[in-house]
Amino acid sequence: MQHAMADYYDTLGIAKDATPEEIKKAYRKKALKFHPDKNPGDSDAARKFKEISEAYEVLSNKDKRRMYDQYGKAGVDGAAMGGGGPGFSSMDEALRTFMGAFGGMGSDNIFDSFFTAGGMGPGAAGRAHRQQGASKRVNITISFEEAAKGVDKELVISTNVTCHTCQGSGAASSKSIQSCPRCQGQGQVFEQRGFFSMSMTCPECHGEGQVIKEPCGTCRGQGVTKEKQHVKVHIPPGVDSGMRLRVSGYGDAGFGGGPPGDLYVFINVEPHEIFERSGDDVILDLPISFPEAALGCKKEVPSVTGHTCRISIPEGTQNGRTLRVRGEGFPNVHGSGKGDLLVRVFVETPTKLSAEQKEMLKEFGKLQGPANLPKGNSFIDKIKDFFSPS
Ligand SMILES: [Zn+2]
Ligand SMILES: [Zn+2]
Repeated sequence: MQHAMADYYDTLGIAKDATPEEIKKAYRKKALKFHPDKNPGDSDAARKFKEISEAYEVLSNKDKRRMYDQYGKAGVDGAAMGGGGPGFSSMDEALRTFMGAFGGMGSDNIFDSFFTAGGMGPGAAGRAHRQQGASKRVNITISFEEAAKGVDKELVISTNVTCHTCQGSGAASSKSIQSCPRCQGQGQVFEQRGFFSMSMTCPECHGEGQVIKEPCGTCRGQGVTKEKQHVKVHIPPGVDSGMRLRVSGYGDAGFGGGPPGDLYVFINVEPHEIFERSGDDVILDLPISFPEAALGCKKEVPSVTGHTCRISIPEGTQNGRTLRVRGEGFPNVHGSGKGDLLVRVFVETPTKLSAEQKEMLKEFGKLQGPANLPKGNSFIDKIKDFFSPS
């Protein structure tokens, strides 16, 4: 059935010129009456609760109220509902408004007295406050290549989820939640001390006003059960060891209708046999022969993302020289470009020479002159200055 939304003032039952105090008072009265914890399973009450929360959300805000007075719903739709169209789409939003209006008001907080008044709904027993569930941490090890390309992983985690049997109330049935006999559901007990009557939190029900006579058999009264959950996690390319991903809503179940916690996936990247990471750059050691270094050559090297890169080793390349292949490193995990592949050249000295090779090398040695020495950074250049002081 399509339901035509009433005027916000009518919804709260107040005059057009109601003061902020009157608005709050009207909302408080109605919100307590239609709160889902007091009307479990009653969809009419839930709809009413959403309507009055929406009306309050608008009328309690000076700017939104002015827009509403001037333009009606069109003036506040979207603005008031976070872009979600007219009406509170979810009970969560309505409950948030409720908490915003009455949460954190000190010890005579209406919220406490409401919950000690004998609410019976899911989440009311044993947990008077909406509370987010605990966050969980899970470690995952991925390969070097997976870190470069990104990977989808399915994790199996064990989390506390709201008990399916009791919907989180912790009680075997709604009949087994009873008003606390010690405090008559007040949550507080009074003690006479001289002239004064002191109130204290009821030790029987810990201030909740209710006791569970027969706990739920499935969760043993905890309201939550452990359950294995499969979570698909997309690990973006470019991640590195020590980074963490947050997967919203996959932590433990919340209490009292509170949202679940988050799952934090801590990344560990396995080292690679030939590649080494330096920020977004990748270092690769490439051995070449002495003639290749002296004469220059072309080489094919692998990149971390599986490309084959052709590089030119220039004539006269010295040991330890680094050649840069642009864009063949890790993609930046935040999306700002790519690192480079740094090819570090190692010139290998030939071993186990045959007689003929030795002979040729000796001939070569004789032909080698000062002109063949690398400029600037040769050992000879350095010690020359050392032995002939200027
Ligand atoms: Zn249960
Ligand atoms: Zn009690």
